[in-house]
Amino acid sequence: MGQDHSIIDEDTPPKTLSSRSISAVAEYILSGRAKRIVVMTGAGISTAAGIPDFRSPDTGLYANLASLDLPEPEAVFDLSFFKVNPRPFYVLARELYPGNYHPTVSHVFVRLLAEKGLLHHLFTQNIDCLEREAGIPANKIIEAHGSFASQRCIECKKEFDGAKMKEFVSRGEVPRCEEEGGCKGLVKPDIVFFGEQLPKAFFDRREMVEQADLVLVMGTSLQVHPFAGLVNLAEERVPRVLFNLERVGSMGSQADDVLVLGDCDEGVRKLADELGWREELEEKWRGLVGEEEAERQLQGAKKRVEALHDEVAKLAEEVDEVLHLGEKREKEKEGGPVNTLSPEDMPDGEGKMVNEVNPGGEDSAGIKSSVKNTDITKTVEVSVETTNASNPENMPDGEGKIVGEQKVGGEDSLETKSSL
Ligand SMILES: [Zn+2]
Repeated sequence: MGQDHSIIDEDTPPKTLSSRSISAVAEYILSGRAKRIVVMTGAGISTAAGIPDFRSPDTGLYANLASLDLPEPEAVFDLSFFKVNPRPFYVLARELYPGNYHPTVSHVFVRLLAEKGLLHHLFTQNIDCLEREAGIPANKIIEAHGSFASQRCIECKKEFDGAKMKEFVSRGEVPRCEEEGGCKGLVKPDIVFFGEQLPKAFFDRREMVEQADLVLVMGTSLQVHPFAGLVNLAEERVPRVLFNLERVGSMGSQADDVLVLGDCDEGVRKLADELGWREELEEKWRGLVGEEEAERQLQGAKKRVEALHDEVAKLAEEVDEVLHLGEKREKEKEGGPVNTLSPEDMPDGEGKMVNEVNPGGEDSAGIKSSVKNTDITKTVEVSVETTNASNPENMPDGEGKIVGEQKVGGEDSLETKSSL
């Protein structure tokens, strides 16, 4: 918490890896020096499975929830809202219930690590149970935000029968406690809602991260605490690899951080290639989900990449528009030509500079050229930096309680991904 999260200077050499690259990570694993790999996963690892992002306005699910009078999508995981109106949660539960979706190639990669005796532990934010379905041993998994595997009354805490629960969920009905004496309290799966404690096992096994010799972070925006803080428990010389659409949290700030920005499955496939495990990975995955599902996921991936390109183009346009406005003001103010610094001339390098996006500010011309000359990966980074003003690290997280991110950016921002 509170540490400098700026990107490491290019001239700073890594301490453990031979270079900050995916091939160096593979070399490190194959050398036998990574025997205790800790994996942290979030919503992005399940995107290809088709699990709807409940925050995305594009999914029908969001529209369903909106019609149920939710003040905001996050309210679906808010205990006080649930007590008043549990129906939206049960709409979501029917959609997300285990059995409706199949593991992605990223899930199966983690299983492969386990089979090779390299997986120290997996911490997941996901409640979809796809880790278990992928065949990762249950004793290696911490479902930090709970799961649909069990449920209980929120009043007397009595467990509710699993088979009955399944029936209620499939009918979209809200189950009530059947404890004798007429408790009739609402029944809720053991999913951690905002403001609730995380499972005790999460805290008990946090030391697994301290013992790690490699940390792989996949598809999480590291915006929900205390889960997000796990990544900072690893020793400083331990390589940390991020597979995500954008740079998040403290990732990229240490000498051995490797950023694999883009589609999560695509990044994982790259690592599998470098390891020489690709064929084995694809075979296991296809064997598990079947040819039809595999093709469906691959087609979906293509569409997501196209959508990302559109999003980035739109973002670049928006930034351009804002900066153009800045230029105009500058001209009016000074009556002279505007500053035309190129990114190379900027004192702190690109990563730092985008932090200072400030409509009408002095650096606007420089930022503009940076955005225009950048590739898709770097442009995605821009979106993170510009929305970083409400840094989740600054959130007043209560001891052990789950804390959501503050609302950042507009609806069109790439930040609309689920963090749960
Ligand atoms: Zn009860």
